Amino acid sequence: MNDAGDGAGAGVRGLRALQAFVFDMDGVMYRGNVAVPGAAAFIAALREAGVPFVFLTNNSTTPPDKVAERMNGMGIPCRAEEVLTSAEVTATTLAGEMPGARVLLVGEEGIRQALAAAGFRFTEDHRQADVVVVGMDRQLTYARLQEAGLAIRRGAPFIATNTDRTLPTPLGLVPGAGSLVAALQAATDREPRVFGKPSPGIYLYALPRLGVPADVTAAVGDRPETDILGGQRAGMRTIGVLTGVGTPESFAAMPPPPDWVFRDLGELNQAYFG
Ligand SMILES: [Mg+2]
Repeated sequence: MNDAGDGAGAGVRGLRALQAFVFDMDGVMYRGNVAVPGAAAFIAALREAGVPFVFLTNNSTTPPDKVAERMNGMGIPCRAEEVLTSAEVTATTLAGEMPGARVLLVGEEGIRQALAAAGFRFTEDHRQADVVVVGMDRQLTYARLQEAGLAIRRGAPFIATNTDRTLPTPLGLVPGAGSLVAALQAATDREPRVFGKPSPGIYLYALPRLGVPADVTAAVGDRPETDILGGQRAGMRTIGVLTGVGTPESFAAMPPPPDWVFRDLGELNQAYFG
């Protein structure tokens, strides 16, 4: 264990005082379509011990049941209700603020289902739109982008599920939701309200489900600038793992660094339960 944090609660004792976990998925639980070594065992151990956890993803395209299916397919036991997506946080939060509003959506099945379930209606006409919601959309057309831009210019709130600029694929990095959001920023000179990581919104939304305070909850992730920063902003403890994007150097360079850095979930499992 590399104990990167300098807070009084870091170290093994602080680690064992943790009462809940919020996990990033890609680069933490799995890479590509393969589970990270130790991931399934740690999840099983947390279940056995009754320690609450949630899987948290900026991906707004895939509904929670499909995310769970994919995890189970890789051998990591996962239930749909343990998956929290930026789509659900966006839809539920907006439903409390503007119930029944007409949404002009740039997005895929996940966010569409979440908005529909929260009581929103949809429109493709900027003149009818009460709000513009933008997520990753692999079928986006110029016509849709145009209507979204016009609606924002007319004053409709500009909402982004997340602002990940790129997505890793076998071909390389391709444009992500953040690139679509950036197109609308350029077209409107407006800034979006963002729900996904590193906004603390998605972390704070998870807390009531976990049932414990932020300061005994750990956000576990591979990306310093989203997973760790978002957890810190929400007042959580943070754990970096080295199975994805982040390196020991990139975690150490953060102001402040995560409280702990582990090679993988197997090493975290040993330190937490060992
Ligand atoms: Mg990740």
